Amino acid sequence: MEQIKLDACPECDLLLRQILPESGEKAVCPRCGYLLYRPRKQSIERTFALSIAGLIVIFPATLLPLIGIKLLGNSHDGTLWSGVIGLFAEGMWAVAALVFMSSILFPLINIILSLLISAHLHFNKPNRHLGRWMRWLQHLDEWAMLEVYTLGIIVACVKLASTADLKLGLGLYAFVVLLVITAMLASSLDTYLFWQRIARLRRDEA
Ligand SMILES: [Zn+2]
Repeated sequence: MEQIKLDACPECDLLLRQILPESGEKAVCPRCGYLLYRPRKQSIERTFALSIAGLIVIFPATLLPLIGIKLLGNSHDGTLWSGVIGLFAEGMWAVAALVFMSSILFPLINIILSLLISAHLHFNKPNRHLGRWMRWLQHLDEWAMLEVYTLGIIVACVKLASTADLKLGLGLYAFVVLLVITAMLASSLDTYLFWQRIARLRRDEA
């Protein structure tokens, strides 16, 4: 017997047969009008391009000065990385770990996973790890709240710059670009399409 795949409408629980709309179309619930699925345009290509851009910009964001401080004629540059090391040296290892994870580690993992998955799908290369990578990428979303916290760092830097003798550094601009790229990555990722393509690659390989 052929298996019929059914989805329940999240809004009104009507059981619906699974369909896959083309790009530009959308699937809506016939009973309540809930938007079930709208394919995102060129999701794989956009994710691929954005993750390459993210991989480039994450280096200046981490290693170039976020702010420069002028004190008694001496100028000190604070990078994200030196900030983490400084917090750690001061014994504030929990804060150091939080800053490191939210502003360096998670964006990096997010970008690398997006790049790996979209590159394999774009070039139709099967890989037995694709499903695992995709699950990890989706679990990273649970940490997305931390972006709010990194925004807090930026606001603090900008406020400090207006009161103290501080200068905004190139690293801060790179960091803002990185945040924008991360947000665009999240909005371009069509998980429904990605899972379908992963399943198709697995079938083709078998
Ligand atoms: Zn419905």
